[in-house]
Amino acid sequence: MSQVVVFGGGGFIGSHLCRRLVKKHDVEIIDIDLEKVEGLRENERTTFHELDIRDAAAKEYSRGLIEEADIVIDLIAYANPQQYVDIPVDVVHLNYDTNLEIVEVCAETDTRLIQFSTCEVYGKVGARTGEDVEFDEDTSDLVMGPVDKHRWIYATAKQLLERMVHAHGLENDLDWTIVRPFNVIGPQMDYIVEDPGEGTPRVFASFMSSLLYNHPMHLIDGGQNRRAFTHILDAVNGLEAIIENYHEFNREIVNVGNPSNEVTIAELANRMRAVYQDLSPDGSLPETVEISGTEFYGEGYEDGERRVPNISKLTSVGWEPEYDLDDTLRDGISYYVDIHERPGTTPDPSFE
Ligand code: UDP
Repeated sequence: MSQVVVFGGGGFIGSHLCRRLVKKHDVEIIDIDLEKVEGLRENERTTFHELDIRDAAAKEYSRGLIEEADIVIDLIAYANPQQYVDIPVDVVHLNYDTNLEIVEVCAETDTRLIQFSTCEVYGKVGARTGEDVEFDEDTSDLVMGPVDKHRWIYATAKQLLERMVHAHGLENDLDWTIVRPFNVIGPQMDYIVEDPGEGTPRVFASFMSSLLYNHPMHLIDGGQNRRAFTHILDAVNGLEAIIENYHEFNREIVNVGNPSNEVTIAELANRMRAVYQDLSPDGSLPETVEISGTEFYGEGYEDGERRVPNISKLTSVGWEPEYDLDDTLRDGISYYVDIHERPGTTPDPSFE
């Protein structure tokens, strides 16, 4: 059993991860919003710290938590493309400056750090060329778009953070692992919007909102871009493998994803519609509308066309993704259908 401090433990991946961690570890959960982990409040192995890590007092307080910890897991991020377009300065301050402060405290206190990054750092490699490109942690180049396509400011900030984590390993003996998740989806991802104008969650939550509230499913640029979607439980299993195989993954960057689940976004929309119709035969299906990325997100948006992970580092320790795309979608969609159509039910987001 270890003492684990989870920054961003109230977010989508963080909350699922914390529910798994408490089975074996003492967990200090830090987040600005702890609603998604409310079910753990009474758990004797968890301590809740509802605070904004950007505040000076919160920084000082969390320094004490890091000093006591065996492992720090840092998931704090703005990780939504709409934010990269709308608030690019804040995206860098949070994703780079704030996270770097956590990295520095870990280096000073000799605390093992598992730093979340993103598959976006790979950038624009593997465009629609038909090339069979898998992103490899140690050999792939990281290719960013032009500065005025400022969607890439997020990936650039995360990339520099990775380089600083790596540099602290070289200069200050920091023990680190960097995790690059690939389009993880499941219950409690982002948020559901009742009306289209209320926000722009990432694609699974966006399409889920459209299905539940019967507003158009928007296919950006015809839905021709591709993503490999990962079931949240496969991601959590992968993270557990990283935590448990300290020596294999110390000072390594690790992709967490499912290359077999690659689809175009248009196909994702079709599959989600089919699963939804199956689970909710009385629900009506919304129209699909094609729209440009600039029109949908605003000036400065540029999409990544393809992202397929090489997962050989994780499979080398026995981890394998278990959920194909239909199972992944079915688990995610049924959670929302249960809440929406069967008022009073409180489905377990971890399927336990
Ligand atoms: N997308 C879409 N409709 C939506 C939301 C997203 O077609 O309502 C597209 C988006 O342009 C991108 C892909 O779906 O090509 C995945 O977007 P997401 O926001 O999930 O995050 P990303 O993988 O780009 O970081």
